[in-house]
Amino acid sequence: MRIVLLGPPGAGKGTLADHLKEKYRLAHISTGDMLREENKKDSPLGRELKSIMAKGALVPDELVTKLVQQRFATDPNLKKGFMLDGFPRTVNQAQDLDAILAGLNMPLDFALNLEASFKVLLERLTGRRVCRKCAALYHMTYKPPVKAGVCDVCAGELYQRSDDNEKTIQARMQVYQESTAPIIDYYAKQGKLKKIDANVDAPEVRRAVAAILK
Ligand SMILES: [Zn+2]
Repeated sequence: MRIVLLGPPGAGKGTLADHLKEKYRLAHISTGDMLREENKKDSPLGRELKSIMAKGALVPDELVTKLVQQRFATDPNLKKGFMLDGFPRTVNQAQDLDAILAGLNMPLDFALNLEASFKVLLERLTGRRVCRKCAALYHMTYKPPVKAGVCDVCAGELYQRSDDNEKTIQARMQVYQESTAPIIDYYAKQGKLKKIDANVDAPEVRRAVAAILK
């Protein structure tokens, strides 16, 4: 199974990815994680990344594509199936991805698009609390800590991320919608787009996904 995961912040991509990793043994290719990893290395790409990040600039699309290409060339586990998360971000990258996969004779099966209303995303993101010490995640409604404001795991202090407020979330959503709409179109035209209703809870999302992947 070869999948691209699409969905705005708060749609539950991370939770679904964890589940797919376990149930279908899919490799999770998160470009966010890969960038953080590569940044630590003393490789040509790592050095290039470091100089870009030191300037506070955005990592160019081509560099992320290069990173993905390198991963496909060097990780034999991906033959057993994978899900891409955070990539592609542009139609150009989607085309590059198709070219990389065509070269390996491993075309994509699906692009799963997690869709949720702004109201639901807002509720999930504004209710989110994070532990300052161990980064454990909580939610005021769905996963409250035993003692208010205190981490169950390490007794650290819980806080709300500064970008988890209504105004910033609205801006993040807008950026997401604008940048992702063309990609969604791209996969729809290929007949590979599968829409998942992500307004419901995680088990229900899993059932919907399982029905598609079976
Ligand atoms: Zn903690």
